[in-house]
This record gives sequence, structure tokens and C-alpha cells, in this order.
Amino acid sequence: MHEMSPLIAILVVGLGMAFILGTLAQRLKLPPLVGYLLAGVVIGPFTPGFIADTHLTLQLADVGVILLMFGVGLHFKPRDLLEFKGIVIPGAILQMAVITTLGVGASMVLGWPLAQGLVFGLCLSIASTVVVLRALQDRRLMETSRGQIAIGWLVMQDVLVILVLVLLPPIAALLKGGDINMMVLAKSLGITFGKLALFAGVMLVIGRRVIPAVLHYIAHTGSRELFRLAVLSLALGVAFGAAMLFGVSIALGAFFAGMILAGSQLSQRAAEESLPLRDAFAVLFFVSVGMLFNPRVVLEEPLALASTLGLVLAAGGVCYRLLLLFGVKRTNAVTIAISLTQIGEFSFILADLGIGLGLMSEGARDLILGASILSILLNPVLFALAAKREASPNAAPAPDRPRPAPEPTTLTGHAVLVGYGRVGKLIADGIKGSMPLLVLEEGAVGDPEIEHIRGNAAKDDVLAAANLSAARFLFVAIPEAFEAGQIVQQARRANPNLPIVARAHFDAEVDHLLSHGASKVVMGEREIALAMLDFAQKPA
Ligand code: AMP
Repeated sequence: MHEMSPLIAILVVGLGMAFILGTLAQRLKLPPLVGYLLAGVVIGPFTPGFIADTHLTLQLADVGVILLMFGVGLHFKPRDLLEFKGIVIPGAILQMAVITTLGVGASMVLGWPLAQGLVFGLCLSIASTVVVLRALQDRRLMETSRGQIAIGWLVMQDVLVILVLVLLPPIAALLKGGDINMMVLAKSLGITFGKLALFAGVMLVIGRRVIPAVLHYIAHTGSRELFRLAVLSLALGVAFGAAMLFGVSIALGAFFAGMILAGSQLSQRAAEESLPLRDAFAVLFFVSVGMLFNPRVVLEEPLALASTLGLVLAAGGVCYRLLLLFGVKRTNAVTIAISLTQIGEFSFILADLGIGLGLMSEGARDLILGASILSILLNPVLFALAAKREASPNAAPAPDRPRPAPEPTTLTGHAVLVGYGRVGKLIADGIKGSMPLLVLEEGAVGDPEIEHIRGNAAKDDVLAAANLSAARFLFVAIPEAFEAGQIVQQARRANPNLPIVARAHFDAEVDHLLSHGASKVVMGEREIALAMLDFAQKPA
């Protein structure tokens, strides 16, 4: 038999196992990432059977981190980061300081040296970018203000970790009881800040012009393949360049590359093109975390592991308190704090450095890894608990209760329009005056004249507030056919005789929507083609 290359082995076995266990997890109503982590444990070095190359998997996982951060940058407006600077800058600094102090305290109880406690505490204070982004994306929170605060907090943690990574080697001697050379320390600090500033400067002055120009040029060649390649090489190239030339983390580099493009007309397309690769590599990230985990630590040091996990949870608690202190609403603070209550890639990098400098033991790293896996597994559970609490009638009444159920409309004989975008706006214009109109829209409607309910129409309470049983028409004018299918199905149940017209972009979507109860489905692309033909056939 051929000797299989380690790279192919990881891609085949790693992704294959992640697929099988992820599907299994889904069937058991668990988040698929539980399956990905387990897949890592199965193909990792601490369990019998096939063992994948850990180093290689970690490198592949890095590609996932780059593409994820690039995607975040694409949707990120610097204005938003600045808008919350009063929260995220002091918040992230204070939270990291408190948890590091707690880590030092815990290490005293365990009889560890101070230096180990310090690195240990720092490791437990930084959330995993990948997990936060997944949590926000799954819940469609990226564009909301709580999503922006969580990302801002994350970016701030990123910057602080870079500083720690740079400062740790020169102060290692001091921590180990030796002398510290202030000159060396000051020089390291100066160089780090200098490089960060230089990188930001280069990106803002040169990157801002060159990157969109390259993409525009490629977009005009009309080759989709070249455009895809351009997006990938820019994202990976800037991240790599940032790491090599400026000592900036690859995650931060990729984030910058994306941010430069944000707001340009091509950003949406760039995001779409990098999506499939991003998802595949993000899965490998979770697999790689699973691979590092030695399940023996659970049996041998359950107490220490539980305390480590306790500290990670405490980090979430501290974050929550700080957010309240800075005036963030309670429900938003819960979401942000939970999304940040776990640890991942940066903690491992820091722990590795600590071990390399002789500041930390391998045993402590095993605890960090164990706590990382458990905290990532616990994350969706925390979200579910918070959602349940929000929904519970016994939940403490707070002045800023979660989004209340939307007020039901009093309209009858009205048209309900789902989606007020390019399509929905035209429909609304056409209807105005002929019958009452109610718009259901996730984003802002911006026209006070139009009665609307803000929220996802696929949610029961939003649709229930639209009084469909007394409506004359339902227009489902959103581009996502899967979600539209759910809306159509629920609406059909609420009113069996309601004329429902829905929007689609593929033949398969037409069938899907019809089978869910739509009376008519308009396929956008077909209508465009017909209108174009119509133009050609009419005498000029
Ligand atoms: P367009 O593709 O430009 O017609 O925009 C579609 C519009 O539908 C956007 O304004 C979205 O915010 C909105 N939208 C998409 N999905 C939903 C949903 N499930 N519920 C309410 N509005 C939605």
C-alpha cells in the first residue's frame, strides 16, 4: 500500500471524522462542534488507532483563523470599534487583570511558583476568536451592537496578548528570581508598539488604496476563479506579512485586511468567495484542539481541572459585571459575556511560550487544554440556559427586559410584507394606498410612515403578531429560500386560504417553497431573463 501523506491523511480522516461525529452530534441535538472536538480526540495522539500529525493540523487550523478574522474584518466598520472604545478598552484590560490575579491566587493554593500562576492566569483570561465568531454567526449577532462589542473586546484582547507575548521573554528572568534589564524591556516595548503602528500605517495608507484596486481590477476581468484567488491571496498574504514583517498576530493581520475592504462594493462578494474554505478550515481548528487534549487529566486531576474551568467561568462573570458597570444592557451583557466565556487558540500559544521559557509546567498546560475543551463544550449550554431564563416568566424583572414579544398589529384586510430590501421596497411602493401594509423586517425600515415589526419573520412570535388570519396577502421577499420556506409553512398553518407569494433564485427553491404552501413563487433570475428578452424583441 502507498504511504499516505500526512497532509492528505489529516484532510481525509480529520474532515471525515468531523463530518461523521458532527452529524451524530446534530442528531443528538448537540452543537456540531462537540462532534468536531471529539473527532480531534479520536485521531489525536492520546487515543489508540490512527494518529494524525498534530503540528500540521495546527497549521491548517491557522488558515481557518485567518479566513475567519478576514471575514469579521469585512463586516467591521472602524467607526463601530471606536463607538464602543469606552467599553472594550478598559473592559478587556480590567477583565484580563482580574483573572490573571485570580490565577496567581489559585496557583498559590496549588503551591505553584508565582511565574507559573501569572502565565496560567493570563492563559485563562483570553477568549478564543474562533469560538466567539462561531457563536455570533450562528446566532446572527455579527451586525448587532452586542456582536460589535464582543468583537471589539476580542480585538482588544488580541492586542494585549501580542504585548504579553512580546514582553514575556524579557521579563522571564525577573519572574524566575533574576535581574531584569530595564533597557531591554523598554526596547522590546518600543519595538512592539512601533511595529504595530507601522503595520496600521502601512495598511491605512498603502493597503487601503492597493487592496480594493487589485480586487476591482480582477473583478473587471470577469473571471470568478481569479477573483476567488485574489481574495484568498490578499487575506492570507496580508496576515502572513503582518506576522513576518511586523510581528503582529496573523489573526489581527487578517482582520485588518478585511477591514480595509469593508464598506466597498466588493466586500460582500469577497466574503461569499471565502466562505466555503473558511468553514472547512474552521472545522479543522476544532479538530486540532481535540487532538491536543489528553483525556487522562480528567481522571488524574479532576479537582485542579474543575478549578481551572471555574476560573474561565469567573472570567465570564467578571466580563458581565464590567459590562453592566459600563452601562451595557443586562441582556446584551449576558450574551457578550457568555460568548467570551471560553478559551482557545491564544491560550495555547501563550502556554507554549511559558513552557519554552521555563515558566510553566506541561501539567499546567494540560489543565488549560482540558478547561478549553470543557469551556467550548459548555458554551452552547450557557447560551441555552440564558435563552431559557430570558423566556421564563419567573426571570427577574429588569428595567431592560429582553426583546418583548412584538405588539400584535390591529390591521385587518392588510398585506404582510416580509423583507424590506431591494425587492420589498418596490412591493411596498406599489401597495401604498391600495391596502394597509405591515412590514416584517430584521433590519431598520427607516420610513416612519410604514407600520412594521422589527425581527426575524421565521420566529413564531413575530409572525404571530402579523394577524395573518385576517390578512389579504403575504409577500415573502427575502432571498434566503430555506428561511422563506419556514415562514411560508407557518403562515399557511395560520391561514389556509391566504394568497402567499414568495421569492426564489433557483428552480429547486421554487419547488421547496411551493411544497411548503406558497401559492406562487417568482424566480428572480427567470424574470430578469424574460425582461431582457422582452427588450430585444421590442422594436427600438
Ligand atoms: P434584498 O435581498 O435587498 O431584497 O433584502 C432582503 C431584506 O430582507 C433585507 O433587508 C433583510 O434584512 C430582510 N430579511 C432577510 N431575512 C429576513 C427574515 N427572516 N425576517 C425579516 N427580514 C428578513
